[in-house]
Amino acid sequence: MLPPALDMVRQLVATPSVSSPDDRFDQSNRGVVDLVAEWAAELGFAVRIDSLPGDSGKANLIATLGAGEDGLVLSGHTDTVPYNAERWTDDPFVLTERDGKLHGLGTADMKGFFAAALHAIGRFEPARLGRPITLLGTADEESTMDGARALAKTGERFGRYAIIGEPTGLQPIRKHKGVFYVQVTVGGQAGHASNPALGVNAIDGLHLVLTALQSWRDTIGERYRDDDFEVPTPTLNFGRIIGGDSPNRICAECKLDLDIRLLPGMQRPAVVAELRDVVANALEGGPWTFDVSAVGGYADAFEGPSDAEFSGVVETLCGCSAKTALFGTEAPFLAELGLQTLVLGAGDIAVAHQPDEYVTIAAIERATDVYANLIQRFCIESA
Ligand SMILES: [Zn+2]
Repeated sequence: MLPPALDMVRQLVATPSVSSPDDRFDQSNRGVVDLVAEWAAELGFAVRIDSLPGDSGKANLIATLGAGEDGLVLSGHTDTVPYNAERWTDDPFVLTERDGKLHGLGTADMKGFFAAALHAIGRFEPARLGRPITLLGTADEESTMDGARALAKTGERFGRYAIIGEPTGLQPIRKHKGVFYVQVTVGGQAGHASNPALGVNAIDGLHLVLTALQSWRDTIGERYRDDDFEVPTPTLNFGRIIGGDSPNRICAECKLDLDIRLLPGMQRPAVVAELRDVVANALEGGPWTFDVSAVGGYADAFEGPSDAEFSGVVETLCGCSAKTALFGTEAPFLAELGLQTLVLGAGDIAVAHQPDEYVTIAAIERATDVYANLIQRFCIESA
């Protein structure tokens, strides 16, 4: 017997699984994987836990119920973003209920999903399944996407249709932008501030780079456009500058971190090459050195599914047409495995990554109904 959904969310929230590119915050997701694995085993799933390469202590969960071709994949990430405890009304790791809202770190994004998915599956006798259900729990979605990347590397298809239960207010998402980070380094030479000729100021070089990147940003918006998106152009955000050490020294090195969001169809390596040209042209003839490189994790843009029947069934169930999102998900990795994929889950993306994040009990119950209907349709009726 599964614990009630609320208890499951409480236990998942109480099990920290922060992932971050910053080692000071990064934690293993193993506690969450083990909890979900235990509940899945309770329902009769064959459970597999794949450790990620290296000694990060991270793992993906792959749980399968039933056998046969095709079937449905329900997928979620087990990690959360870091948090500022002082900005929360209550302890982020203690599920706190107020006015039907369940507050806690990862309630909407996306520990609530596992409670909804498992309870949906629990409504069916495993013997009735003509096609398998696979439950995936990935690591590191919020940092490097290394969990989904490792899944994609297995080459296993896991099923025919996939739902990623990110918080979408239970409106299906069929398309989203891609995201990646680029770091631009401008090198100069340190020297005494009293005489500019004693060094090469990297901040002066970066100033030229910033101006060039601003005009590149304007032109790329003219070249690429998709009006399905609320923000219809690619975006480039100047997120962080690190450089210099003292007002009285000529700055020897400056680093600029960029967040770039691509439209479906745009290729990451081509964009990096273009940025390198922009920086080279901006600094041409000057005394600076430079480097432009893609850093950290990335998610490709996603456009799917091609299977109109799948979209149709999901849209009918949700009572709305599939939409686009500005946030990235693991969908491109599942699509790479050949899965027809949509993103659909309880909760609002606007409260995710925020203090006092919450999901409502009603939304978890609705998600449970929607997932159960999909299981009925794709693992029982079509079998
Ligand atoms: Zn998420």
